[in-house]
Amino acid sequence: MNLILLGAPGSGKGTQSAKLVDKGFEHISTGNLLRSEIAAGTELGKKVESILEEGQLVSDDVVVELLNANLNLDNSKYIFDGYPRNAQQAKKLCEILDGHTYKAIFFDIDTDILVKRLAGRRTTKDGKHIYNIVSNPPKVEGICDVTGEELIQRDDDKEEVVRKRLDVYNETMQGVLSHYRELNLLEVVDANRDVNDVFDSVMSIVKN
Ligand code: ADP
Ligand code: AMP
Repeated sequence: MNLILLGAPGSGKGTQSAKLVDKGFEHISTGNLLRSEIAAGTELGKKVESILEEGQLVSDDVVVELLNANLNLDNSKYIFDGYPRNAQQAKKLCEILDGHTYKAIFFDIDTDILVKRLAGRRTTKDGKHIYNIVSNPPKVEGICDVTGEELIQRDDDKEEVVRKRLDVYNETMQGVLSHYRELNLLEVVDANRDVNDVFDSVMSIVKN
């Protein structure tokens, strides 16, 4: 079964994805794919850089192009993180997943917690290892426990951009949630809790 993780920026999708990878899932984060295009200085990266800096969504076509280049649904079970972001993308993902089983999990969280989590987020450059200076600090300040590389703060985790991203999220996510609710494929998890408690809830959805 494939999983679609839905939730506001900072709700813990990437953190839970890393734990699900240990259970055999492949993680596909459209945000990470876009940031790696930017870091590599590709044409696509140049096209989207300012959009990410402003906290807006890039065009649906760009994201689908990236997904198609990175998915192999016959060989892996995926966690979709950061996609879909609007109702059109949700419809598109239905087409992409046609013939495959999946569930959508909504990470329900209070806004005041999100803002604190995003302010404290530090990651490796590729976004694969995620820390928090308050709730999950690395053993050595500023250094990844796993790879030894320096941790960064994402440009779009600065306060002004966070506010914009949360506005965009609030404008676009209802359509996505309705889509999965109507299909009877929506599960809701209380994401305000500790990482391991959230993971237990996610795993009980995966197993049922
Ligand atoms: P998302 O992928 O949904 O944007 P992340 O997984 O990157 O969110 O988490 C955002 C920040 O919150 C990170 O700094 C992460 O370490 C921290 N975090 C994630 N889940 C929890 C949790 N359950 N409790 C406390 N902090 C968390
Ligand atoms: P994320 O890493 O999921 O927080 O995404 C970071 C940024 O990448 C977003 O603010 C958007 O600019 C862009 N992005 C990621 N996923 C999508 C998507 N599915 N559709 C449009 N833009 C996206």
